[in-house]
Amino acid sequence: MFTDDTIVAISTPLGEGGIGIVRLSGNESLQIAEKIFFSPKNKSLRELKSHRVIYGFVKNPLTGEKIDEVLVAVMKSPHSYTKEEVVEINCHGGMITLRKVLEIVLSHGARLAEPGEFTKRAFINGRLDLSQAEAVIDLIRSRTDESRRISLEQLQGKLSENIISLRDGLADICASVEACIDFPEDEIETPEKLAFLDSMKNIREKLQLLLKSFDEGRFFREGLSTAIVGKPNVGKSSLLNALLKRERAIVTEIPGTTRDVIEEYLNINGLPLRLMDTAGIRDVVDAAEKEGVKRSLKSIESADLVIALFDQSEQLGQEDFEVLGKIRDKQAIIVLNKADLQSGLDKGIFPAQHKPNAPSIVRISATRGDGLEELKDTIFNSCLRDWKEEREGVVVTNIRHKTSIGNAVKSLQKAEYALIESQPFEILALELRDAMDKLGEIVGIVTTEDLLNKIFSEFCIGK
Ligand code: GDP
Repeated sequence: MFTDDTIVAISTPLGEGGIGIVRLSGNESLQIAEKIFFSPKNKSLRELKSHRVIYGFVKNPLTGEKIDEVLVAVMKSPHSYTKEEVVEINCHGGMITLRKVLEIVLSHGARLAEPGEFTKRAFINGRLDLSQAEAVIDLIRSRTDESRRISLEQLQGKLSENIISLRDGLADICASVEACIDFPEDEIETPEKLAFLDSMKNIREKLQLLLKSFDEGRFFREGLSTAIVGKPNVGKSSLLNALLKRERAIVTEIPGTTRDVIEEYLNINGLPLRLMDTAGIRDVVDAAEKEGVKRSLKSIESADLVIALFDQSEQLGQEDFEVLGKIRDKQAIIVLNKADLQSGLDKGIFPAQHKPNAPSIVRISATRGDGLEELKDTIFNSCLRDWKEEREGVVVTNIRHKTSIGNAVKSLQKAEYALIESQPFEILALELRDAMDKLGEIVGIVTTEDLLNKIFSEFCIGK
C-alpha cells in the first residue's frame, strides 16, 4: 500500500507562532536532515540518541546560506508516532522560514505528505488502529474538555478494546457453531442451542448499548445545535449575552464569509452548544428582526434543542403562541424571562409539567442573571438524561462506527432468528461472520483503500 519514501510537512498551524515544526517521517528522514542541518559543535544527528534534541542551523548545503536557527528532535524507529524514523525540526514560527525549510527538505529527497499521511502511516504500521486514528482528528477538533476526554479515551484504545472483545466473543460462538455444521441437525442438543442464543443475545445487547451512547456522544463531539427563539423584546439577545459572557467556549469564523456564519459555542458542563443564527438574534435593527418571529422560527426546524423565551411580565400574544405551536415536537425548554418583574402571565397556558415529554419550564432574569445555573442544568439534563450514569462506559461518537455497529446488530438479529427457526447452521455461521466483519471495520481489521483515503483525507496536512 505504501512506498517507503520519506514524507515531510509543516505540522504546526499556518501563521505566526513562537515555533513551527517541520516533520519528516520515513527511512531517509535522518539522512535528509543530516544534509541540511549543521551543529556548531559538529555533532551529527546520527549520533544523537532517540528522543533527544540538538541545537544548530538549517543551511542550504549548496550555497551555505543559513535558513534558520533550530532545534532538531530525532525519534528512532519504531518508537515514534509513525513507527518510522521521525525527525522534527523546530524552527522559528513564521511562514517564510517554515516554507524555506520545507522546500529545502523537499529538494533533498523527501515528498510532501498528503493530508493525514503521518497518522495513516501510524495505522498501517500498527501503531494505532483505525478508530484510534480517527480519534486523533476528533481530539484536535474538540471544543470542550468533555469532548477532549472522550476522544483521548478513544485514542488510547478504550473503544477498540471493547469492540475487539465483543468480536472475539462472536468468534468463539462462530467456532462452536461451525464445529456443529458437520453433525446432523437433530443431534444438536437443545441446551447447546439455547447457550448459543444466550451468548449472541448478550453480545447484541452490549452493542445496542454502544449504539445508544452515539446520540449523546455526537452531542459532545459536534455540539448540540441550539436555537434561542421568541418574539422581539422577550430578551433573546440579553440571554445570549449573559450566557456568552460566562460560558463562551469558542467562536469559529469560517474564512471568506461574513459574520452571519460565525458559529458560537457555549460550554454547558462540558457539553458544547452550537448556537444558531446568533447574528440574527443580535441584530435588533436588522430588517429581518422587523419581520418579527419568522426568522427565529426557521431555525427551530434544524435544531437539536430549542430554548423558547417568553416575557413573563406580560400576557402571551399571537407570536408567543406561534412559538409554542412550533416547539411541540421538539426537544425544548420553556424559559420565562424577566422574573425580576411582576408576573403578568397566565401559567395554565404552558404544558403541564407532569405530562410525559413536557418541556421543562425555567424562570430566569437575563439581565440580573437569576436562574442561569438552573437553565444550564436543565439544558444538560434534557438532552442527556442518562449521561451521568453512562459516562463511565465507552462512548461511540463517530457515524462510521455507529453504522458498523448497527449492521453488526442486524446480522446478529438474523443469526438469532436463524437459530430459533432451526435454519441450517451454515446460515447461522454466515451471519455471525458478517457481524464479525462489521465490527472489524471499526478497528480496521477489515478495510479498503477507499475507506482509508476517505478517513485520512479529512485530516490536515502535517498530521
Ligand atoms: P430580544 O429582542 O428578544 O433580543 O430582547 P432583548 O434582549 O433585546 O431585550 C429587550 C428588552 O428587555 C431590553 O430592554 C432588555 O434590557 C430587557 N430585558 C431583557 N431581559 C430582561 C430581564 O430579565 N428583566 C428585565 N427587567 N428586563 C429585561
